[in-house]
Amino acid sequence: MLNEKVAALCNEQINKEFYSAYLYLDIANYYADQGLDGFANWYTIQAQEERDHAILFLQYLQNNGERVTLEAIAKPDKEFNCHRCALEVGYEHEQYVTSLINTIYEAAHEAKDFRTMQFLDWFVKEQGEEEKNADDMLKKYDLYGSDPKGLYSLNSELAARVYTAPSLTL
Ligand code: MG
Repeated sequence: MLNEKVAALCNEQINKEFYSAYLYLDIANYYADQGLDGFANWYTIQAQEERDHAILFLQYLQNNGERVTLEAIAKPDKEFNCHRCALEVGYEHEQYVTSLINTIYEAAHEAKDFRTMQFLDWFVKEQGEEEKNADDMLKKYDLYGSDPKGLYSLNSELAARVYTAPSLTL
């Protein structure tokens, strides 16, 4: 059995990761509506990754004898009414998720729960990548997005993103 607080935070994280998937689907919907199918593709794949993260937390708890509780997933409530605004929402959200992972890590460290710390190591690294990806999106948009031809090229680049399963297996 895991430390009670650590297990509770991991269980909450399942919901937060599913919420992330929901938020990214909402962003994908916005871009699809704008005719930016490449941006929509990028965020749809991002949503798939978040769903994977949720399942990894779920499996980790199951593998450690914990009874998982699934809660309602909140409605995506972020406002974004411009192409860049949606990217900003994505970047801010990843910074928030990093803080959530850090909070669980802190609790695991405090409880000397080395197993959970090792499990979370992958997520610590993953969050570094997620923040960089979200920041890169903003940088690319600022470089190319204001010009129709540049936006077209960027959209085409993002259309090429393909889903890959997470490198972490349990
Ligand atoms: Mg995630």
